[in-house]
Amino acid sequence: MTERLRFAPSPTGPLHIGGLRTALYNYLYAKKHQGQVVLRIEDTDQTRYVAGAEDYIFNALEWMEIPPDESPKHGGNYGPYRQSERKEVYHEHIKHLVASGKAYYAFDTPDELEVLRAAATAKGEVFTYNAAVRERLKNSLNCTEEETQQYLDSGNYVVRLKVSPNTMVTVKDLLRGTITINSSTLDDKVLMKADGLPTYHFANVVDDHLMAITTVIRGEEWLPSLALHQLLYDAFGWESPKFIHLPLILKSEGKGKLSKRDGIQGGYPVFPLDWDEMKGFKENGFFPEVLRNFLLLIGWNGGTEQEIYTLEEMIAAFDVSGLQKGGGRFDYKKALWMNAQYLQQLPLQSLRTAGAVYLKALEGRYSEEALLQIVALAQPRITFIQELTAATYCFHSGPTEYDEKPLRKIKDRLPTSFFDWCEAHLPNTDVANLKAALQTWCEAEGCGFGVVMQGLRLALVGSLTGPDVMAIIALVGTEELLKRIRTLKEVINN
Ligand code: GLU
Repeated sequence: MTERLRFAPSPTGPLHIGGLRTALYNYLYAKKHQGQVVLRIEDTDQTRYVAGAEDYIFNALEWMEIPPDESPKHGGNYGPYRQSERKEVYHEHIKHLVASGKAYYAFDTPDELEVLRAAATAKGEVFTYNAAVRERLKNSLNCTEEETQQYLDSGNYVVRLKVSPNTMVTVKDLLRGTITINSSTLDDKVLMKADGLPTYHFANVVDDHLMAITTVIRGEEWLPSLALHQLLYDAFGWESPKFIHLPLILKSEGKGKLSKRDGIQGGYPVFPLDWDEMKGFKENGFFPEVLRNFLLLIGWNGGTEQEIYTLEEMIAAFDVSGLQKGGGRFDYKKALWMNAQYLQQLPLQSLRTAGAVYLKALEGRYSEEALLQIVALAQPRITFIQELTAATYCFHSGPTEYDEKPLRKIKDRLPTSFFDWCEAHLPNTDVANLKAALQTWCEAEGCGFGVVMQGLRLALVGSLTGPDVMAIIALVGTEELLKRIRTLKEVINN
């Protein structure tokens, strides 16, 4: 049987990276088994609908290069893929459940239920709408046909699942094994709301069945609902799919689930793309390959030392046995490390092309060949591609300011005769011979070669950082070097 998976986000805000990891695992599992992934938009809770969230989900999956095979956008044979467009499907199915005695209409008003809840609370109990009380309440099990029809005509009703008490419900999760619970711990869940829309539970089960889903991979927050979902499958006489409930993504330190607030406080992204004032992984400069790799390893490991995976390698390696049951830590430093790793193994030409906007200022001034050399010098020094501008700045202009400490040192230790030597020799010294010429001069003057090199670096970069000094000079040329040395001299003299 072809494996069919689904990612079923609710468009209630930006896709959190926990959701994105779920999407990734669904994708990997499907591709590993030559199956398909469905993207279903679960938008039946209109009070939580957020404009733009659906587009955000599409854009994030597209950027991550893990597109669904079927979706509201991609089409497919099992649509519509937006739950708000499937109302008739749910109505048909709910009628069937009521007709077969597995569900019933309930007419209690929200106020009436509130009174019951308050009374239970006053006694230190929790009100549960179930077999123990349903016979005393206002529903189609107790009302006459006429009364029922009146209520139905008024439109003020919900549909509840009729849970048989005291039966053992067995559910299976591929990661956590078999779980058995007593049905008396469940309530007669609302399946269809008064607004005529299905609840998540009902729509989810109906759609997973009708969309021929074979494996459900979702967050562990849904594990407590699994018994209810199983009862729904049983009520319809359907076979349930396989289930995998993924552990949470935890804060980088301390207890609890990673939240938006953690990102704001820690200054790191928790969303794939920008959302309002929150920067996304993409806009921070992460490659989609890196975010995929980073998410893969929060909650899964291949049992080897391998940390960097191409998409093909992930698909081949991904397996339920590598999933962990406990929460996975969000380690932003690891994400940074991975981005640097990825960036550093990019072929030069690819980095040059991908980073073209950050190298604009150098274009025209350098040949393509020289530009590639400049990129090669910057490559080991950056984590994010946008850092190319700063990392290649010394090839564009001399420093506008100088680090104080080395400046003082140069002022104290570099003889003024050095500047005279530069004036006399730099214009006609070949870069290839420059180092040897400087060494000879140092010996004659009794000046440390290290001091001279630091002087040159300071003149070129403004600090003691940056690529190899001679490599910079080879690219900017001795004429430019002399200009920068003159500027440094002025700064020292003032
Ligand atoms: N719409 C649910 C959510 O966004 C999906 C849960 C599921 O995958 O079953 O969390």
